Amino acid sequence: MHINRPSELRRLRIALIIGAILVLLFMAADLVLIPSSMFKLYIFDRLLLQFPIVIAVVVLSYWRHFIRYRAYIFAGLLIALSYSNYWLIWVCWEEHNFVFPYEGTILYAFFCVFALGIPFKLAITANTINILGFLGLMWLAPVYGDRVPISAAFVTGSLFICAYAKYRLDRSVHMLKETNDRLLKLSKFDPLSDLLNRRALRDQSEKLLALSKRHNVSMAVLMLDLDDFKKYNDNFGHQQGDEAIKVQARIMKQVFKRETDILGRYGGEEFIVVLSDISKEQVEKHSQAILDKWKDTKLKHADEAKHPFMSCSIGVAYASTVSELSIDWLIDEADKVLYEAKEKGKAQYVVTEAQC
Ligand code: GH3
Ligand code: MG
Ligand code: MG
Repeated sequence: MHINRPSELRRLRIALIIGAILVLLFMAADLVLIPSSMFKLYIFDRLLLQFPIVIAVVVLSYWRHFIRYRAYIFAGLLIALSYSNYWLIWVCWEEHNFVFPYEGTILYAFFCVFALGIPFKLAITANTINILGFLGLMWLAPVYGDRVPISAAFVTGSLFICAYAKYRLDRSVHMLKETNDRLLKLSKFDPLSDLLNRRALRDQSEKLLALSKRHNVSMAVLMLDLDDFKKYNDNFGHQQGDEAIKVQARIMKQVFKRETDILGRYGGEEFIVVLSDISKEQVEKHSQAILDKWKDTKLKHADEAKHPFMSCSIGVAYASTVSELSIDWLIDEADKVLYEAKEKGKAQYVVTEAQC
């Protein structure tokens, strides 16, 4: 998915700083709870371990590859914070016989997974490592006495729920993205021919024209129209007619293969090709290739049609320089010579060289 790097980075930094502030706020709250003999140990864990770990990630966010590796970094952060908490629980119990609460473990998981956006697979991995760590802690140091089983179940359940919720969220985002891509395709492409629709054709042609003007290169607009298509439809039906439109699109794709070539359906059985930085000879060669491919296709035409097999006529407007030209003007010129090609007997191309 495309992400806007500066704003995504800013958002993540803010989330991290909020996280660091929360660590400090919890510190103030915890200091009320714990005996003063443990202050040194506690402050060491929070101020010299957890707080610097979060700040280190903030600093790391200035690394130029941070966005690419952020999910791994955040998963690492989640594990580091959780294990530093386990250490605190363990030392409090071992050295001071004090039962330090485990809830922070759950809060860290929800914060890192949702606020920082660890994807599902890494979230389940980090949470599993943290669950195992907590179970290990409970085995080594049964801090919570007869509440060990319920505490272990609560931590395990919460971390799995956290990962599962992330799975649902990631799937929804993925489905939304797929729908968005499909809508974008529908808004740009003609479903029958899979070529650009008229609006997208215009947008892209305008961009190519601007680029051709900037680089002072040639342009060509080809207008292609199926011959006696009405008769074909009347004879073989509309559905067969649609198949002929698909053949025309396929032939166009076979002939015009450069990444910058713009192929579109202008309307009905009329198609447009817009080319840039191309010689007149090359355009003529390509136009002939279209006619030849139709000849090879040998798609039987209606008896009343001008030619026994389906063909198309092509009007080409060629401009060696486009500084003064517009796309509309080039299309008009191509349309005029397309008419000429029809008048001359169809199944041929006519080129006009635009003088500006
Ligand atoms: P010419 O050789 O002079 O171009 O004759 P023509 O019959 O091809 O010309 P005209 O433009 O009059 O006819 C176009 C026909 O194309 C009319 C319409 O029924 C048919 N048509 C337009 N869009 C579609 C489509 O999406 N599918 C099918 N099957 N036919 C279409
Ligand atoms: Mg036609
Ligand atoms: Mg037509």
